[in-house]
Amino acid sequence: MYPPRFDYVAPTTVDEVLAVLAERGDEAKVLAGGQSLIPMMKLRFTFPELLVDVNGLPGLDAIDDADGHLRVGALVRHNDVVASDVVSRTNHTMAAAAPWISDPLVRNLGTVCGSVAHADPLGDWASVMLACGADVVARSQAGERVIPMADFISGPFTTALEPTELVTEVRVPKYAGRGGGTYLKLERKVGDYATVGVATHLDLDGGGAITNAGIALTSVAPNNIKAVEAEQALVGESPSDALFAEAAELAAGAAEPKDDVRGSAEYKRNVVRVFTRRGLTTALEHAQG
Ligand SMILES: Cc1cc2nc3c(=O)[nH]c(=O)nc-3n(C[C@H](O)[C@H](O)[C@H](O)COP(=O)(O)OP(=O)(O)OC[C@H]3O[C@@H](n4cnc5c(N)ncnc54)[C@H](O)[C@@H]3O)c2cc1C
Repeated sequence: MYPPRFDYVAPTTVDEVLAVLAERGDEAKVLAGGQSLIPMMKLRFTFPELLVDVNGLPGLDAIDDADGHLRVGALVRHNDVVASDVVSRTNHTMAAAAPWISDPLVRNLGTVCGSVAHADPLGDWASVMLACGADVVARSQAGERVIPMADFISGPFTTALEPTELVTEVRVPKYAGRGGGTYLKLERKVGDYATVGVATHLDLDGGGAITNAGIALTSVAPNNIKAVEAEQALVGESPSDALFAEAAELAAGAAEPKDDVRGSAEYKRNVVRVFTRRGLTTALEHAQG
């Protein structure tokens, strides 16, 4: 199916984008990689009157290591993360997740920030960002807002973003001392969305105790969720198999999976349990390695 008619602009500065969004934000959509927006327009799930193509904006295609954060610009593609040395050295959760996003075509075009802004409950990046404690940086003509990822997603395909705002970057804190993490994903076939995805993140102090823990789940609730009770059970404790098993049980309890073509609710809940325990074990190995 063809999408309904729409206007198209391709500004070359962020200020121009913000001016267009200030004027027509309610009827406009930002176009980044187009890997979610265009299919949704073709299916007529969404019909913006105006597309604001941001692919010509300079300076938003880098992953910068600055001020204790990885700053992932709005035009960083999934495959930029796959190829990034700084990510592979400094954030195991992001490095593990990137190759799992769909197939090479989608990875070449789709953006990390677009995925976060889209807030598809089956999207992988939102869980990674929730587990890592990232912030979303949004700009409008009124200024810049830094929105904690935990406050950003408010429901399926729904976020705290205003129609006048452009996501300019996602800021991912670097490990405070020794840290590690991973992303585990079960999919029916290569390139599919997650049946279940689990993102994990751990920071350890000098004595080996857990100072910070992140666990977030994909595809097992109306939107990506943090397993907060499981995270809290880990903080301040010394890592052990028994502790990870307890956290895995709490994460499985936080999931709200449904029976569908990808599997039964019971099966998915058990995958959350197994992946959380396995993910925490891998995170610990990275942190100690
Ligand atoms: C066949 C296929 C398989 C896929 N499989 C997976 C998968 O396994 N895992 C996964 O996570 N994703 C998957 N995706 C989705 C893919 O990751 C998309 O790239 C991503 O969801 C959206 O990023 P985008 O840059 O393409 O955004 P777009 O499609 O351009 O935009 C998506 C939405 O975000 C908004 N937006 C984008 N950028 C900004 C910004 N900077 N500021 C404000 N709003 C913005 C747009 O207005 C739109 O509403 C798949 C897509 C396809 C087509």
